[in-house]
Amino acid sequence: MKRCPFCAEKIQDEAIKCKHCGEFIDTSGQSPFTENDTKWYFRKSFIVFAILTVGPLALPLIWFRPETTRAWKIGLTTGVLVLTWVVSVATLDSLHLLRQYSRMFQGFLPVEPR
Ligand SMILES: [Zn+2]
Repeated sequence: MKRCPFCAEKIQDEAIKCKHCGEFIDTSGQSPFTENDTKWYFRKSFIVFAILTVGPLALPLIWFRPETTRAWKIGLTTGVLVLTWVVSVATLDSLHLLRQYSRMFQGFLPVEPR
Protein backbone atom coordinates (compact mmCIF):
# COMPACT_ATOMS: atom_id res chain seq x y z
CA MET A 1 0.00 0.00 0.00
CA LYS A 2 1.12 3.56 -0.67
CA ARG A 3 -0.44 6.91 -0.08
CA CYS A 4 -2.00 9.06 -2.77
CA PRO A 5 0.08 12.24 -3.13
CA PHE A 6 -3.10 14.25 -3.73
CA CYS A 7 -5.57 13.12 -1.05
CA ALA A 8 -3.26 11.02 1.20
CA GLU A 9 -5.66 8.08 1.17
CA LYS A 10 -4.19 4.58 1.08
CA ILE A 11 -4.16 3.05 -2.41
CA GLN A 12 -2.68 -0.04 -4.07
CA ASP A 13 1.01 0.11 -5.06
CA GLU A 14 0.15 -0.74 -8.65
CA ALA A 15 -2.60 1.87 -8.87
CA ILE A 16 -2.17 4.47 -11.59
CA LYS A 17 -5.38 6.26 -10.68
CA CYS A 18 -6.51 7.06 -7.16
CA LYS A 19 -9.90 5.52 -6.31
CA HIS A 20 -10.60 8.20 -3.73
CA CYS A 21 -9.93 11.45 -5.56
CA GLY A 22 -9.61 10.24 -9.13
CA GLU A 23 -6.13 11.75 -9.66
CA PHE A 24 -3.63 9.91 -11.85
CA ILE A 25 -0.57 8.74 -9.92
CA ASP A 26 2.75 9.47 -11.60
CA THR A 27 4.41 6.04 -11.94
CA SER A 28 7.99 7.35 -12.37
CA GLY A 29 7.15 9.32 -15.47
CA GLN A 30 6.72 6.48 -17.94
CA SER A 31 4.72 7.97 -20.76
CA PRO A 32 4.58 6.08 -24.07
CA PHE A 33 6.43 8.91 -25.76
CA THR A 34 9.68 8.78 -23.79
CA GLU A 35 12.99 7.91 -25.40
CA ASN A 36 12.93 4.64 -23.42
CA ASP A 37 10.19 3.37 -25.68
CA THR A 38 12.22 4.03 -28.82
CA LYS A 39 14.25 1.13 -30.14
CA TRP A 40 17.94 1.58 -29.38
CA TYR A 41 18.92 1.93 -33.04
CA PHE A 42 16.44 4.76 -33.47
CA ARG A 43 17.88 6.80 -30.60
CA LYS A 44 19.22 10.17 -31.68
CA SER A 45 22.61 9.53 -30.11
CA PHE A 46 23.03 6.23 -31.94
CA ILE A 47 22.00 7.72 -35.30
CA VAL A 48 24.48 10.59 -34.90
CA PHE A 49 27.18 8.04 -34.01
CA ALA A 50 26.25 5.87 -37.00
CA ILE A 51 26.38 8.82 -39.42
CA LEU A 52 29.78 9.86 -38.08
CA THR A 53 31.19 6.35 -38.50
CA VAL A 54 29.56 4.84 -41.60
CA GLY A 55 28.20 8.03 -43.19
CA PRO A 56 25.51 7.51 -45.84
CA LEU A 57 25.10 3.85 -44.83
CA ALA A 58 23.26 5.13 -41.75
CA LEU A 59 20.66 6.94 -43.85
CA PRO A 60 18.12 4.05 -43.78
CA LEU A 61 18.02 4.46 -39.98
CA ILE A 62 16.76 8.01 -40.45
CA TRP A 63 14.22 6.93 -43.07
CA PHE A 64 12.80 4.08 -41.00
CA ARG A 65 12.64 6.16 -37.82
CA PRO A 66 8.95 6.78 -37.14
CA GLU A 67 9.51 9.96 -35.10
CA THR A 68 11.36 11.81 -37.84
CA THR A 69 9.28 14.04 -40.06
CA ARG A 70 9.58 13.89 -43.85
CA ALA A 71 11.17 17.35 -44.05
CA TRP A 72 13.85 16.30 -41.54
CA LYS A 73 14.50 13.07 -43.44
CA ILE A 74 15.05 14.94 -46.71
CA GLY A 75 17.15 17.61 -45.02
CA LEU A 76 19.31 15.13 -43.14
CA THR A 77 19.78 12.96 -46.23
CA THR A 78 20.89 15.98 -48.26
CA GLY A 79 23.19 17.07 -45.46
CA VAL A 80 24.81 13.65 -45.08
CA LEU A 81 25.27 13.26 -48.84
CA VAL A 82 26.84 16.73 -49.17
CA LEU A 83 29.09 15.98 -46.19
CA THR A 84 30.12 12.65 -47.74
CA TRP A 85 30.90 14.37 -51.03
CA VAL A 86 32.96 17.10 -49.33
CA VAL A 87 34.89 14.51 -47.31
CA SER A 88 35.63 12.30 -50.30
CA VAL A 89 36.74 15.27 -52.41
CA ALA A 90 39.01 16.40 -49.58
CA THR A 91 40.42 12.89 -49.25
CA LEU A 92 41.10 12.64 -52.99
CA ASP A 93 42.68 16.09 -52.88
CA SER A 94 45.03 15.18 -50.06
CA LEU A 95 45.92 11.90 -51.79
CA HIS A 96 46.77 13.85 -54.92
CA LEU A 97 48.85 16.27 -52.86
CA LEU A 98 50.65 13.38 -51.14
CA ARG A 99 51.49 11.84 -54.50
CA GLN A 100 52.85 15.19 -55.69
CA TYR A 101 54.96 15.53 -52.55
CA SER A 102 56.39 12.05 -52.88
CA ARG A 103 57.26 12.70 -56.53
CA MET A 104 58.92 15.98 -55.49
CA PHE A 105 60.94 14.27 -52.78
CA GLN A 106 62.01 11.54 -55.13
CA GLY A 107 63.26 14.18 -57.57
CA PHE A 108 65.33 15.86 -54.88
CA LEU A 109 66.81 12.67 -53.44
CA PRO A 110 70.54 12.54 -53.99
CA VAL A 111 71.76 9.79 -56.22
CA GLU A 112 73.25 7.05 -54.08
CA PRO A 113 77.00 6.85 -54.43
CA ARG A 114 78.38 3.60 -55.69
ZN1 LIG B 1 -6.24 10.42 -4.08
